[in-house]
Parts: sequence; C-alpha cells; structure tokens
Amino acid sequence: MHRLDLILFTHCHFDHLWGVSDSKNASLLFPSAELVASETEVSFWSDPELPGKVSPKQQPLVTQANLKLASPRLRLIKAGAEVAPGVTTFDTAGHTPGHISVHISSGSEEILITGAVVVNSAVPKPEPTTSYPPFRGYGFGAETGCRRLEPRCSLRW
Ligand SMILES: [Zn+2]
Repeated sequence: MHRLDLILFTHCHFDHLWGVSDSKNASLLFPSAELVASETEVSFWSDPELPGKVSPKQQPLVTQANLKLASPRLRLIKAGAEVAPGVTTFDTAGHTPGHISVHISSGSEEILITGAVVVNSAVPKPEPTTSYPPFRGYGFGAETGCRRLEPRCSLRW
C-alpha cells in the first residue's frame, strides 16, 4: 500500500479540496499527509463573510469546514514556492483568486499541472476577461490565469 506524503491543492473548489476528509467532514482521510495550498486561496475561502458573497452552489461553509479540519496539517505557500524538490508552483489566479499551477521536473522529464485554468467555463467565450461566474466582481478573469501559463507552454490567445 502506498502512503501519501504531500497533497498540493491547485485551488479549493469542492472537487479539489473536499476529498481530504470523510463524508461528514469529521476526519482527514490522509492524516499523515502534509497539505499544501496557496495562502491567497485559503485566505479567500476562510473569509467569514464569504457565504454572503458567493453563490450557495459554491457551498463555502463546507469548504470552510474542510479547511478548518485540514489546518493542523496545512502549509500555506506563496505562488512561486518550490514545495518539494522539482515541484514548483506558479500563480494562475483567475478560476479562483489564489489558483496555482504546478511544474514538476525530474531529470529530463517534466509535466505541467494546470488545475482548472483551461477548463474554466469563461475560456471559450469571445471575451476571455469574463470572470468565472461565481467570482464576478472580484477583479480577475479567466484570461489572467491563461496568460500566466503562456511562458510555460504553447497556449496562446
Ligand atoms: Zn475549480
């Protein structure tokens, strides 16, 4: 059986974060793993006023419960941090305020994990600065995250 040593979250949407706990959000499923997330992302989701600012569909209270549960194991980083040898993050805010992507290299091999940057529902629209609907009004859009990917891949607007 394999052991998870580190879990790195690109962002804190339910489909990325909630798997850290059991179905009742009562215990961590990987209690020995170090959890790593962007401090900007965690700060955004930890705002006590957030439930009044985003759609109830985002279920911010469940996300906040998961973050509280994770907090003893959670290492907050700034985008750009190297979280392990060869594992470097970079800022791709847009899908969420603190979204990060990850570049992993080992020897001559490398991979870019973009999280939800290019699956953002606003990307295929003619106006790529359109914000992801749940976060309209926060001053960023899908274009922001995609432009930050450009130096690292062939994605172009
Ligand atoms: Zn997402």
